[in-house]
This record gives sequence, C-alpha cells and structure tokens, in this order.
Amino acid sequence: MLTLTEPRANSDRLVTTPPAPTTAGVVHIFTADVSDAPIYHPMLTWAETARAEREPDDHAFALAIVSAGLLRHAAAMLTGMPASSADIGHWCRLCRTVGDHGRPVAFDPSGRTIPSVYLSCARAGDTVLVAASAHASVGIDTVEPTSVPADGQPRLSLCEQEQGFFDRVSAENRDSWWLRTWVRKEAILKATGLGLALAPSQLDVSGGILHSWPRELDHDVSDGVQLVDLDRVPGGQIAAVAFLGPRRPMVVAANPPRPFFLAAGRSGHRPAMVVTRHASRVMDPRLSA
Ligand SMILES: [Zn+2]
Repeated sequence: MLTLTEPRANSDRLVTTPPAPTTAGVVHIFTADVSDAPIYHPMLTWAETARAEREPDDHAFALAIVSAGLLRHAAAMLTGMPASSADIGHWCRLCRTVGDHGRPVAFDPSGRTIPSVYLSCARAGDTVLVAASAHASVGIDTVEPTSVPADGQPRLSLCEQEQGFFDRVSAENRDSWWLRTWVRKEAILKATGLGLALAPSQLDVSGGILHSWPRELDHDVSDGVQLVDLDRVPGGQIAAVAFLGPRRPMVVAANPPRPFFLAAGRSGHRPAMVVTRHASRVMDPRLSA
C-alpha cells in the first residue's frame, strides 16, 4: 500500500511541481469537491462555462465547472504553462472531431493538440477526479459506494468469466464487487477514448487484470494495460485508473497547490489518498489473446 504524499507547491503559480519528466509512467491524480466551483468558475472561458451550463441541474453544473478547472490544472502541471493559459477541448474518437464530447485534450497556443498530455476526468457524488500523464493514455472512473446497480445491470455488464465470480460473491458484498469491476472496465474504455461505445461485457477484468477485450481494442492494449484501484478518495468513492503501458505507473496525488486555496480562503488541506490492493501487473497480450 502506497500512501500518496502532499505535492510541493510553487509559491507564485497555480501549478504543482511534477516529478522529473523523464520518470517512466507517472499518473497524477487531482481531486476536488463540488463546493470548490466558485473558485474555479472565474478561470474558465466562455466556452467552458457554456458547456457546463448544458448540464441538467445545478449540482451537475458545479461538478462540470470543477472538472474544467481541474483539467486546466492538470494540463498546466504537465506542460509548465499557467493554468489560466491551458486550453482544454474534447476529442471524439468516433466522430474524429473536436467538440463538446469525447476525451479531454489540451491545446497549445496555436490551437494544436499537445500529444504528450493525456487526461481523463470522472465525477461521482460531490467529488471530481482527474488523471493526467505525460507518458501514456490514462482513463479514470468513479462511482458512489452506495450506488445500487439497476436490475439486470451486473449481468449485462459482466463477461461470462466475471459472472462466475459474481455468483460466488456473498450477497452483502455483491454490489461493491460489481461497482469495483465497473469502474475498472470504464477506466480502460475511457483510456482508449471509446467510453461506452463498446459494451463493458466485452472486457474481462477479473482480479484487476485485463484478460480479454474486443478486437477494436487490439491496438490500444498492445503494450499492456495497468489497472490501479484508488482508495480513500476524499468523498469515499470507488475509483480506478487505467494506464495503457507495459509497466505499473507511479500514481501520485497532485492537487492544486496550497496558495491557490489559501488565496480563496480555504485551508488547502486535502486528505491523502491511498493506492492499493489489486496492484496492477504487466499484462502480456500474447497470453490472453
Ligand atoms: Zn462523437
């Protein structure tokens, strides 16, 4: 079990100090609460705010504001540019266009996507999580631990092998087992940029390892997939990160630095997260093709 440490903060810029960029396989995890929305709102562009305004209610709007702000922080940390200059858009792999849906991407000042910035964002309850890496594509997903799957949802989302495990889990642990499995699958699908375009039942993530996948993902997973469960997420959510690469990444907490929150009248304290349990392992696609 690896306890994540507080990030070091620059005093005059809204970026944290990242590990040396040559470090292989680092994933930075940012967390924020919906109550931080008033802090983030002023830093967003008209387009980002307009996108958030399409959410169905005030709570979802506030989460969208926080998500956009955290994505800026993540891009700023990876590129060294101030968060206020980070330009975030969304790219849909299926439509092959930049628009209002799809995975988050960062743009340079000339409007081109920055290839070495990989971002993913997830929200549940009052919490927003952003995963960012300069090394390989990442996906993050989260759910409330008290979520109850809809009737038939576990059956529909599990492959045959997983259904066998599901049937053997005790009744009281079945929902949490399924939620954990669900976020792992979603994290992988988000890392590939396909999201719910593929049925989660086409993946087998038994034991926290990707064992099988549909042919559409052959290219995405050719170097391996690392699954890392996140525990002690500040809001208590169940969460997982997927990293498309051959080796387990170092996962570090990288919240916006203290000066940012101090300036906003907040303590800046964020509880440390713990990365745990089903430690990801190197996956050799040849073994499970
Ligand atoms: Zn699309």
